[in-house]
Amino acid sequence: MEVALRILIVGAGPTGLTAGVELARRNIHAEVIDRRDEASPFSRAVGILPRSLKTLEASGVTPKLLKQGQKFRMARFYRGDRLLLSLPLTVRQPLHGYDFILGLAQDRTEAALRDAFVGFGGAVSYGTELMALRQERDGVIAETSEGKELAFDYVIGADGVRSKAREELGIAFDGIDLPETWSIADVDAEDWPNANAFTVCQLPGGEVAVVAPLDVNRYRVISNTEYALAALPLPMNVTHVRREGQFKISVRQVSQYSKDRVFLAGDAAHCHSPVGGRGMNLGIADAADLAARFAEGAIGGYSAARHAGGARVIAQSEQARKVLTSANPIARGLVLLGLRLASVVPPMQRAMSHQVLYGE
Ligand SMILES: Cc1cc2nc3c(=O)[nH]c(=O)nc-3n(C[C@H](O)[C@H](O)[C@H](O)COP(=O)(O)OP(=O)(O)OC[C@H]3O[C@@H](n4cnc5c(N)ncnc54)[C@H](O)[C@@H]3O)c2cc1C
Repeated sequence: MEVALRILIVGAGPTGLTAGVELARRNIHAEVIDRRDEASPFSRAVGILPRSLKTLEASGVTPKLLKQGQKFRMARFYRGDRLLLSLPLTVRQPLHGYDFILGLAQDRTEAALRDAFVGFGGAVSYGTELMALRQERDGVIAETSEGKELAFDYVIGADGVRSKAREELGIAFDGIDLPETWSIADVDAEDWPNANAFTVCQLPGGEVAVVAPLDVNRYRVISNTEYALAALPLPMNVTHVRREGQFKISVRQVSQYSKDRVFLAGDAAHCHSPVGGRGMNLGIADAADLAARFAEGAIGGYSAARHAGGARVIAQSEQARKVLTSANPIARGLVLLGLRLASVVPPMQRAMSHQVLYGE
């Protein structure tokens, strides 16, 4: 007789909610807990990549994301306030059925995932924090902030970079902390000229300021300086600052993605810079892979497969960050030369677009 699995997911970010959706749509019992009192109204990730859109088609989430998001097929590069070139993102044959990056604030992506999870019968318990995990021969006991002991067959730790699940497993999270401070500003602004493109401004000394549209007249400005808006060399008619903040970047990955009956996914397992916009998409891929493995009874291969995939993404993201933020004038000149060539040599332009859209 087949026994129904019961899985606890710790964390209602994009990774945990994707795991919930992908399990629940296959009729596998999943419950999500999150220590926040309510869903976060703020966005970190803005770009949803083609592979994630393909992954979320089966649950019906993708059409909801497409309805709300902005499709980007262009990047514009500036040196200071001087436009150097516009680079269309074009490929001969779209992979996964999409040839654009979908811009959407992370809180709205999470809302679409949560609605789908609840629609499949799942439940998210906010205000419930994982305090401890105890692995037994045939299950896992999760102790919560409400003083309860919850028994599950398996636990998925999708509880972000400071993961309690990871800490309870005693798994190393090796890597480095980058010294520089980065900053973001989410703003409402009118008449921004690049409403349907990513804007990348090279500043002196390896500094950059990037603008990504989040919605109609709503933008994310991000920079490797302390004040993103002040660093932006282009005039922006800001009508409202929704939030400003600073953050540090760590580049880390766990040595293993699981231990016995507990699995790690998303930022709990890896973190890196936002250059390339891979973090959330990597978490969605971890979660979808793990859910499929639960359904197929193949969870044993999860750790090795996702560790290898994550290591590739981290290496590429770090390479892109170093190139983008290099203070070396020769390296900057070479980047510019590569971009100029890509803007006039179609095969190079397609190769670059392919990497931006589908690289992992
Ligand atoms: C400025 C910035 C821009 C970014 N832009 C992009 C982008 O464009 N594209 C992209 O793909 N990625 C981007 N990222 C990365 C992306 O935001 C993260 O990779 C993504 O949020 C990770 O999702 P997650 O669900 O794994 O973790 P999180 O989103 O961190 O969610 C973890 C959840 O777990 C909960 N939690 C934590 N501890 C506990 C506990 N003990 N018990 C219960 N709940 C707990 C938290 O409250 C939280 O809700 C960006 C990041 C930053 C900082």
